[in-house]
Amino acid sequence: MFDSLSDRLTGALKDLRGKGRLSDADIDRTCREIRLALLEADVSLPVVRAFIARIKERAKGAEVSAALNPAQTVVKIVNEELIGILGGETRRVRFAKNPPTVIMLAGLQGAGKTTLAGKLGNWLKQQGHTPLLVACDLQRPGAVSQLQIVGERAGVPVFAPHPGTGVGGEGTLGVTSGDPVSVARAGVEEAKAKHYDVVVIDTAGRLGIDAELMKQASDIRDATTPDEVLFVVDAMIGQDAVTTAEAFADGVGFTGVVLTKLDGDARGGAALSVREVTGQPIMFASSGEKLEDFDVFHPDRMASRILG
Ligand code: GDP
Repeated sequence: MFDSLSDRLTGALKDLRGKGRLSDADIDRTCREIRLALLEADVSLPVVRAFIARIKERAKGAEVSAALNPAQTVVKIVNEELIGILGGETRRVRFAKNPPTVIMLAGLQGAGKTTLAGKLGNWLKQQGHTPLLVACDLQRPGAVSQLQIVGERAGVPVFAPHPGTGVGGEGTLGVTSGDPVSVARAGVEEAKAKHYDVVVIDTAGRLGIDAELMKQASDIRDATTPDEVLFVVDAMIGQDAVTTAEAFADGVGFTGVVLTKLDGDARGGAALSVREVTGQPIMFASSGEKLEDFDVFHPDRMASRILG
C-alpha cells in the first residue's frame, strides 16, 4: 500500500546524507519533497500542512547530537512525527470491568465490517476471550448468512434474527426481518445469560452516508452502550475516507478506527489522515480476506514500514 510514498520519502531523505551540516535551504527543500510525497499519497491537505510545519520547526531548531549526524536527525524527526500522526502509542481494546464488553462496528457498506467481525472474533478467541457475533446488518441481502459463514470459519457463535420474528436466536439462519435495535439488545442479553465475555455487533452500512444509516447506528449504540465503537473504513477510498470518518464522528461517534484493505495498491493517505482528522486512534488493520490477515495497529511499526 505505501510503496510509492515510501520510495518518495526515503528518496527525499537520502539527499541529505553526507552533509556535515544542514542549511535552512536544505531543510526547506527536503520539506517540499516530503510535502509533495504526502499529497501524492492522498494525505489530506490540513494534515500535510501541520506535519510539514512541525518537521520544519523541529529540524531547524534541532541540536546536532554527538550520536546522530544532521541527516539522521531529520530522519529521526520525520519518523517521530509520522508515529505521531498515526496515533503515537498502540491503542488496545478497552475491555469492560463487568463483561460482556460490547464492540460495535460501523461504516459504509463494503468497508469490510462483516469480514472484520469474523477476524475480530478469531483474534478475541486467540486472546482467551469468548466472543459472540451479533448480526444487525439486516439491510444488505445475505449479510446475516455471510456473518454466519465467517463466524463458523472462526469457530465463533453468531446471534441472528429468527426468520419472521425479529427476535434473536443463536445459530439460526436468519432472514432480513425484525429490527436491528432489538436484535442488538437481545444479543447483549444472550451474552449475559450464556457468559460470552465480548459481543461484536455487525451493523448495516449504505453505499453513501445518509441520515437513516446514522440514526440506525446511533439507536443501536444507545440500546447497547458499547465499550468501543469501531469505525471501519476502506483504506483504498483515499480522500473519501476522511469525509466519511467526519460524518460518522458527527453522526454516531466512535472510539477507534479499523483500516481495511491495506493489502490494496492505493496510496495510503487515508491511513495517515484519519487519526489527525477525527482525533480517534487507529486500533486494527485488516489486509486481506483471510481470518489471519488482521492485526493490532502499531503506529511505530507502520512508520518504520513507510520510512523503509
Ligand atoms: P461490509 O459491507 O462492510 O460488511 O463489507 P464486507 O465485509 O462484506 O466486505 C466487502 C468486500 O471486501 C468483501 O468482498 C470482502 O471479502 C472484502 N474485504 C474485506 N476486508 C478486506 C481486506 O482487508 N482486504 C481485501 N483485499 N478485501 C477485503
